[in-house]
Amino acid sequence: MPSTGPQGKTGFRWLAARSVDARLTTVVNSNDLAPVAVLGAGLAGASVALELAHRGMPVILLERDPQAMARASLRNEGKIHLGLIYANDGSLATARLQLQGALRFRPLLRRWLGPAADALRPSSPFHYVVARDSLLQPDELEHHYAGVQRLYDAAREQHPQTDYLGTAPQRLAERVAPASLRPHVAVDRFAAVFRTAELAVDTAQLADLVRSAIHAHPRIDFRPGHRVQRVRASDTGYRVAGDSANGAWHIDARQVVNCLWDQRLRIDSGAGFEPEPGWVHRLKYRVIARLPEALRHGPSITMVLGPYGDVVVRDDGTAYFSWYPVGLRGWTHDLAPPAAWDAACRGDVPGEAAAAMAREILDAIDAWYPGAARSVPLLVDAGVIVSYGRTDVDDPRSGLHDRTRIGVNSGGGYHSLDPGKLTTAPLFGQAAAERVLARA
Ligand SMILES: Cc1cc2nc3c(=O)[nH]c(=O)nc-3n(C[C@H](O)[C@H](O)[C@H](O)COP(=O)(O)OP(=O)(O)OC[C@H]3O[C@@H](n4cnc5c(N)ncnc54)[C@H](O)[C@@H]3O)c2cc1C
Repeated sequence: MPSTGPQGKTGFRWLAARSVDARLTTVVNSNDLAPVAVLGAGLAGASVALELAHRGMPVILLERDPQAMARASLRNEGKIHLGLIYANDGSLATARLQLQGALRFRPLLRRWLGPAADALRPSSPFHYVVARDSLLQPDELEHHYAGVQRLYDAAREQHPQTDYLGTAPQRLAERVAPASLRPHVAVDRFAAVFRTAELAVDTAQLADLVRSAIHAHPRIDFRPGHRVQRVRASDTGYRVAGDSANGAWHIDARQVVNCLWDQRLRIDSGAGFEPEPGWVHRLKYRVIARLPEALRHGPSITMVLGPYGDVVVRDDGTAYFSWYPVGLRGWTHDLAPPAAWDAACRGDVPGEAAAAMAREILDAIDAWYPGAARSVPLLVDAGVIVSYGRTDVDDPRSGLHDRTRIGVNSGGGYHSLDPGKLTTAPLFGQAAAERVLARA
């Protein structure tokens, strides 16, 4: 399959916008041949659907859940990556992609959601604290951050109207005295501290905004409760078949965009597009908790570089907590994760298990973010991370440090989109829509 994205060494193949056939600008009747079916209504599928609809093409958007944005795009940290964390990819290729995604994130949301996108409230900026057993030493990290800064400066020179979640920082990261994080962080435990411009969004708020835009758009025919089972080539394009509470269904479409995230490879394989080997699905839990008053205005923290965690302080008095050694609960190289992961990824974690997970994660973080254990857990859930690698993040040679095998793969009118991260979902969603429009 030809691909957009660095894995094909082609860079982005930005296809020229074409005016969409007037025949396609009416809402699709169920029995007709649909111009395009988008599978999965996470941020990737929603981005494809919103861009196509924006450009005049009617879209059928299929989703197994009762609502859009209820899986990984909701149950994640919400960090819009500037590329700082991918310091172990010395080529800067991962950082370049994340930075590109970050700088397109809000402009694309604004294009699709209108001024409503301005309501997205960013977290407090992240500080990166360097663990004493970090995979990279502070000087090596500083070298990486300088490289990312050069990429950023070049991007700003080309597009002076920088919009990173409504900010236009000068410096992305600078080393500061560890004491500047007292009393919030037990700084003696760390080798160095960097203040960064990186921010996270509140994913629940993002989900609400995207759901509203999907529902409001007259050219998006959103079909929740529709589980896709298979896609097959047909005389006219593709037949997408599945089940729902009302029984089996199928849709014939000229083109298909697969945005199913952890189910994507399974459907690709069934459609005759064998995935390149090397993927791994990981199940990772998160905790959302109400902060004690003393921590309400604390810094957001990412501990680098290895199997550590994050605290993301939001402006509503809550925070996101993750601690990798506790929160990582599943790892598989199978084509799709086991069914046993599904409940947690729907937010369905039994009370006792949720309380135990929250306790373990908050206690582990309390050791370096004192007071975290006094937070009141509000939500414990999980998401699947899809990436490529055989060994875990504590291995400097692990493929998990390289996130460049992402983007859009196309074979005829079948397009498969791996957004890689939340950060890059709008960027690649728009690229996938370009592919569809180019064939329409
Ligand atoms: C714990 C965690 C933390 C993360 N932190 C960050 C972060 O800070 N920053 C960042 O940039 N990225 C982060 N990520 C990654 C990010 O969440 C994902 O890359 C992104 O959300 C993927 O978007 P998506 O639309 O492809 O997937 P999803 O949001 O999962 O959407 C896929 C959709 O397809 C639907 N679907 C699946 N199978 C079927 C089927 N058979 N039929 C019909 N519908 C189906 C699902 O229900 C879902 O709605 C994190 C991920 C996790 C799990």
